Amino acid sequence: TTFADAFSALDLHASLQRAVGELGYAKPTPIQALALPPALQGRDVLGAAQTGSGKTAAFLLPILQRLQGLPRGKTRALVLAPTRELAAQIEESALALAKFTDVRVASVFGGVSMKPQEKAFRGGTDLIIATPGRLLDHFQHPYARLEALEVLVLDEADRMLDMGFLPDIRRVLRHLPARRQTLFFSATMPAPILQLSRELLRDPVMVGA
Ligand code: AMP
Repeated sequence: TTFADAFSALDLHASLQRAVGELGYAKPTPIQALALPPALQGRDVLGAAQTGSGKTAAFLLPILQRLQGLPRGKTRALVLAPTRELAAQIEESALALAKFTDVRVASVFGGVSMKPQEKAFRGGTDLIIATPGRLLDHFQHPYARLEALEVLVLDEADRMLDMGFLPDIRRVLRHLPARRQTLFFSATMPAPILQLSRELLRDPVMVGA
């Protein structure tokens, strides 16, 4: 795999280059430099990355690059995050990176009304960022079908383990197409996380510290 020392080396769509520039990102962070080239090629990635490493853009840019080339109207990318706060932060980053595209983004987490979230599923919002519990609540309804899903991200997988979400994650997986790209990020790699990564990833590129 290659190491991208400049965003311009990545052949990102102009809309994404522009957003990266507007956010003031001069060059990829180390995890981005390692993860972006294989992720943009459609490979599965297992990333060891801490908060603050720039991991969010490392998975959002490949998603947005792929969505740019596809018609709107179907949910093709799902990011799973352990907490509402993280899901909201990822949504904020996704909105900033998608600012010059027509890609639509929504978040799905507990503690707020189901109804706008239901609309996100019904409208085929391109990219949904969700916590596992609330996503499973939606999966009890026929409107929440993700059969067009092409990319799955697990963010902060070790925190999901600590919070007892691994059974929920496995339940979510039963609702997703098996043929997809999966990007898996975790700060630490305890045995249950490595096991889950082996179940989820196909021939992954391993990156990070
Ligand atoms: P994250 O680890 O994804 O939560 O990102 C941590 C912070 O780094 C966020 O405020 C990002 O906006 C910022 N960031 C991400 N990528 C870059 C970059 N390439 N250059 C500078 N800042 C970045």
